[in-house]
Amino acid sequence: LEPYYQFMLRVVTPGGLATPAQWLVMDELADKYGTGSLKLTTRQAFQLHGVLKWNLKKTIAEINEAMLSTLAACGDVSRNVMCNPNPYQSEVHSEVFHWAQRLTKHLAPKTPAYHEIWLDGEKILDSLEQSDGIEGDAVEPIYGPVYLPRKFKIGIAVPPSNDVDIFSQDLGFIAIVENNKLIGFNVCVGGGMGMTHGDTATYPQLAKVIGFVTLDQVLDVAEKTVTIQRDYGNRSVRKNARFKYTIDRHGLEWFVDELHDRLGWQLQPAREYRFEHTGDRYGWIKGKDNKWNLTLFIQSGRVKDLEGYKLKTALREIAKIHTGDFRLTANQNLVIANVTAQKKTKIAALLKEYGIEEGSYYSALRRSSLSCVALPTCGLAMAEAERYLPTLLTKLEPILEEAGLRDEEINIRMTGCPNGCARPALGEIAFIGKSPGKYNMYMGASFTGDRLSKMYRENIGEDEIIDTLKPIINRYAAERVSGEHFGDFVIRAGYVKPVTDGTNFHA
Ligand code: SF4
Repeated sequence: LEPYYQFMLRVVTPGGLATPAQWLVMDELADKYGTGSLKLTTRQAFQLHGVLKWNLKKTIAEINEAMLSTLAACGDVSRNVMCNPNPYQSEVHSEVFHWAQRLTKHLAPKTPAYHEIWLDGEKILDSLEQSDGIEGDAVEPIYGPVYLPRKFKIGIAVPPSNDVDIFSQDLGFIAIVENNKLIGFNVCVGGGMGMTHGDTATYPQLAKVIGFVTLDQVLDVAEKTVTIQRDYGNRSVRKNARFKYTIDRHGLEWFVDELHDRLGWQLQPAREYRFEHTGDRYGWIKGKDNKWNLTLFIQSGRVKDLEGYKLKTALREIAKIHTGDFRLTANQNLVIANVTAQKKTKIAALLKEYGIEEGSYYSALRRSSLSCVALPTCGLAMAEAERYLPTLLTKLEPILEEAGLRDEEINIRMTGCPNGCARPALGEIAFIGKSPGKYNMYMGASFTGDRLSKMYRENIGEDEIIDTLKPIINRYAAERVSGEHFGDFVIRAGYVKPVTDGTNFHA
């Protein structure tokens, strides 16, 4: 660690849950040890930026004291398990949230090393029981002595919402509901967003549905899938180490056979499901128990105060009075969840007081935008994303307005490099940074998250982006058929070819 003096800390929140007390701790830590702001990530986690090396241990200890953890938020293990963030929407959502927690706990590293290094051997966090079941030098029961070849991402979707971008996950579970009861999940495997510019052996890939499992089979399937990647993933070439490449190298049929062998039983045929969108639904909705839930748009997931827009202060003041909880969404937004009618009035008043707009105030394009951290805090960034996308949106919004498309949801995503943290290959319009001010532009992903985008222009700057997009947007406004999404239109109009398998991404 010698040459490095400041760090990013990622805090796992399975399913995106943070209590008001935990929110207040994160808010305070951002001021005390970070850059004064919080980032809500596309994997429903918190990031603290700019933590100085000599403050790392103190920060991690304080995070753990708040019953949160940084364990397995990074590294070659199963990461934060994602799910639809609002368990108060229905019993099914509530059950799915518990599956996200169970999967996280089941696949958490069992080593006590984390606690020895960062917490002086004290086990403060009980909720995930991360150090149970392994002592001293014993080998990890699931990960073995050398862990996985690469990070491993799991998500759970509840149709019709594909907010977790289920086909971008290494392992995805799609909730199957009958008579309002969760009966099991379709399983999909082998998704992933990352690639390297100029290296066509690397590509984003969509997970493929391989069958259906009942609830009692979920943990077994997850564990055996992880062990297959552990045993067959490429440990020689890191750029080729993700699970998607393991499956593409050996074939999906091989994987399913191997999984069945390890399970000792077979998956059932996949059940019917239908996704309608990947974005969040904004504003207040009444959930079960007549409690209210507010999904709040947070540009790029950045929680900070600006002139006339005191978001960080507003959320701190809300956390002080809130008796429900906070839910981080996979779209970098925030649900203020489980709010009583009385608190609803107070929370709405606080938001107004600090200049925070609710519901559909912003254009649909802005509400459908995602961007990663990029410059200046991500060491891998080649171009701006979070700091630049709002400016680009401001320039695109009048074009959409003039074309009568202000309320048309078009998924637009930007990342500072091809690692794909904001899942750009699933943006109907996407920009991946090449160098400062220059991006590769992609189009044609589906609105429901089951088709990838394709490169349309290479290495272009702002003027060319706008000159390129304006006529396409105008043509879309004039020629789209009823209900046709932008990503579908650009394919029908012949701008790009459809990409339903990542192996054709560069073709
Ligand atoms: Fe950093 Fe690249 Fe991820 Fe953006 S996509 S946060 S630039 S690694």
